[in-house]
Amino acid sequence: MTKANVVKAHIGDIPRHNPCAQCGTPIPQPDWIEPGEGRVSYLWTCHACNYRFEAIAIFDEAALEHPPLAA
Ligand SMILES: [Zn+2]
Repeated sequence: MTKANVVKAHIGDIPRHNPCAQCGTPIPQPDWIEPGEGRVSYLWTCHACNYRFEAIAIFDEAALEHPPLAA
């Protein structure tokens, strides 16, 4: 079961010590980083309780407010 939350960040920012969404244990770094368009998804795995969750960082607000037109 995954739970997504959304935070704002800047390009190049890699979140560290994100607290586990279930037990609150700080996780040193994300297991997986998946860059996307205007956002980066981070997959965190808590080694204390084995909870996995995804956090999405949005770094391009302009792209969200003015999405490119489909050709
Ligand atoms: Zn945990």
